[in-house]
Amino acid sequence: MANSLSDLPLQPKPTAAYLHVPFCHRRCPYCSFTVVADRQDWMERYVNAVTVELSLLNTARPMNTIFIGGGTPTLLPHDLLQRFLDSIAHWLPIDTARGEWTIEANPNDVSDELCKLLRQSGVNRVSLGGQSFQDTKLIMLGRDHRGGQLQQAIRIASRWFDEVSVDLIFGVPGETIDHWRSDLDCAVELPITHVSTYGLTYEKGARYWSRLQRGDIVAVSEEVELEMYTTAIENLSQAGFEHYEVSNFSLPGSSCRHNETYWNGEPWYAFGPGAASFVDGVRRVNHRSTGTYLKRIESGESPIAEEDVLDWETWTRERFVFGMRKRKGVGWECLVNVGKCETIETIQRQIKLHVQDGWLEWCDGHIKMTTKALPVSDGLWKDYL
Ligand code: SF4
Repeated sequence: MANSLSDLPLQPKPTAAYLHVPFCHRRCPYCSFTVVADRQDWMERYVNAVTVELSLLNTARPMNTIFIGGGTPTLLPHDLLQRFLDSIAHWLPIDTARGEWTIEANPNDVSDELCKLLRQSGVNRVSLGGQSFQDTKLIMLGRDHRGGQLQQAIRIASRWFDEVSVDLIFGVPGETIDHWRSDLDCAVELPITHVSTYGLTYEKGARYWSRLQRGDIVAVSEEVELEMYTTAIENLSQAGFEHYEVSNFSLPGSSCRHNETYWNGEPWYAFGPGAASFVDGVRRVNHRSTGTYLKRIESGESPIAEEDVLDWETWTRERFVFGMRKRKGVGWECLVNVGKCETIETIQRQIKLHVQDGWLEWCDGHIKMTTKALPVSDGLWKDYL
């Protein structure tokens, strides 16, 4: 029997692609992503480099979903952004009537001119890095927009796009449940179709992490954070949003299809510094340093820093864990048909224990998390990996 996924003859070809744009005005104090601050002088080199990386595909690959994330993709000057989108459309053609092409946008960058450029290039979904509608919280987060500007950006974007998503952060130092409720109330009054909610995390390498260690800031308690999470589920559900993934909510039919690729364990291409792809059973990660990424491409070298050929067991276990992030869970038949028996049996034994403890439940042929498991779900998965 084949041991690595790449040995199998019928690995599906990716129909999803992620492109990472690493530029930001400045680094927010809580951020540990692959970004570079204030490097406008690298933007043209970056667009040229991604175009070269795309051309390594050799032939155009039709896509169902494309996601341009960052960083701040809308920081690219419009002429460069246009070239960037044209390259993507050339190498990764997408039927925009049926496909989903998302770009992340900074609220301050959203204008009718930008939206027109995006629409005419094929983008049909905008995801706004809003984080909050409250100025004090936005200042605490080191963001350069204010609540009124986020509201204005949503209104402008919704005139051009049927699908508008907003990210909201909770659990910011000093934040109360009432502050968080007010953010949720504001969001559901606006013309958005999707909300992603995240609890603030303190990652090593981010300025907030060292401030927390020094005692300059105090994290909200676990109890308050839990209440904020359950408040989001209640309030957004009451407003008609379906809670379809641990951190994501959408109006009916407006889930993020691109992210569902990851949760379903399907393959995807990825381009840009630090971008991770999964193609033919192999996971590859590009160099995280934007400078190294640029230099390697410019000198004709591969941008890939890491390559991991997944074996059956790892893939089956990871696929299960990622799939369990979806509220509908994982279809048992789907796992049994693709997985290796002994791995499935190990997973099955663990599922039984978690069902007995009330963390998981069976529903319509799917194994899914119970409501009780949602806030602590990250702690469950180590037992499957
Ligand atoms: S805008 Fe987003 S990606 Fe850029 S530094 Fe802030 S949190 Fe990080």
